Amino acid sequence: MQTELADFIRGTPEGLEADAILRKCVHCGFCTATCPTYQVLGDDLDSARGRIYLMKRVLEGGSVSGKTRLHLDRCLTCRACETTCPSGVRYGRLVDIGREVVEKRTTRGPLDWLKRTALSFGLPRTWLFSAALRTGQWARPFLPAGLRKKVPPKTKASTAWPAPRHARKMLVLRGCVQPALAPSINAAAARVLDRLGISLIEAPRAGCCGGVRFHLNRHEAGRDDMRALIDAWWPLVEGQGVEAIVATASGCGVTVKDYAHLLANDAQYRDKAARISALARDLCEVVPVDFPQIRSENAPQRRVAFQSPCSLQHGQQIRGRVEALLARAGYQTTPVRDAHLCCGSAGTYSILQPAIAGELRARKLEALQEGGAAGIATANIGCLTHLQAQSRVPVRHWIELLDEALERRVTS
Ligand code: SF4
Ligand code: SF4
Repeated sequence: MQTELADFIRGTPEGLEADAILRKCVHCGFCTATCPTYQVLGDDLDSARGRIYLMKRVLEGGSVSGKTRLHLDRCLTCRACETTCPSGVRYGRLVDIGREVVEKRTTRGPLDWLKRTALSFGLPRTWLFSAALRTGQWARPFLPAGLRKKVPPKTKASTAWPAPRHARKMLVLRGCVQPALAPSINAAAARVLDRLGISLIEAPRAGCCGGVRFHLNRHEAGRDDMRALIDAWWPLVEGQGVEAIVATASGCGVTVKDYAHLLANDAQYRDKAARISALARDLCEVVPVDFPQIRSENAPQRRVAFQSPCSLQHGQQIRGRVEALLARAGYQTTPVRDAHLCCGSAGTYSILQPAIAGELRARKLEALQEGGAAGIATANIGCLTHLQAQSRVPVRHWIELLDEALERRVTS
């Protein structure tokens, strides 16, 4: 489409990128078919096509209102529209730019601002989130049923971590909320990789990937988190010869893979960011699909539905790999209707847009449970806790299922 960007953004790095993206969109509307918010709300302004139209108007100097911001806020950034788009429109990049402009030119109500500030302050600080979670877990039995469901119970799964012993080493991202919510996930990853001849190590002082604050439209604060993480990792990247940086949460992995782009205009960090992005892998990319197959007599024979997070299937464009690993470990994966649609978690979205997130979760759980699965597997801590709050069956990270299957093989 034709564009005429306004002076305030024309010629800037963001303006040039937004312009190139906008020009690719032919307004065909194919993306509406796979946009979860369009499916729930039925308004074209709550689809990728409608939001692209709104952002074009803003970037061309048109008026900006709370309504413009509302339609952008309602976007999950699931990027299903990117997978569908026949013209290769990189909507995710465009919405980052559009949201930042709209955020600066509108004023949020005090409650909305307070919620966002609290999330931006509390989530990336692991110690603070852990303390809040522990208090909630202690008080859980006394809470009303509705509130109790929002506080995940303490996990009882193993956190045993094998000592590093292999020449092959990989770094693992600790993340911000995952160490408190489910420390068993990274430990299970360490045990599985240890069996496959790889030692998984964590860097001290390495925390949030920056995605939380970046996606709350606090871009510079998010970039500060990214720079802090690079600083924490760098001695191990330089000195220990790690062959990959592994993310066990696909939502964090997609952000780390994007560091090269997000810090491209930072002269001090640009090269380091590019190196970190080149090393970044989702966990399913480093577990070989030809690991020793678990024979049927030793297999757990459990039916599992895999919920592929948007950050894995759309953000990282990885599809079918976790299902193949689960099958190799002896699990039967059940078919999942509309597997391309978001579950409604989407980082802080489930807290900021609870009604849409709740509707999407209800639809997703129905689809996941249609095949009679005894459990649900996922690849992202946000999806896991969001789904578990209303699921009839347990929701686990797929690596924990793989770990259990391998453990059975060793002990049987
Ligand atoms: S984003 Fe892609 S699919 Fe959607 S309207 Fe534009 S060109 Fe069509
Ligand atoms: S990112 Fe997801 S919610 Fe946002 S416009 Fe694209 S498909 Fe719709």
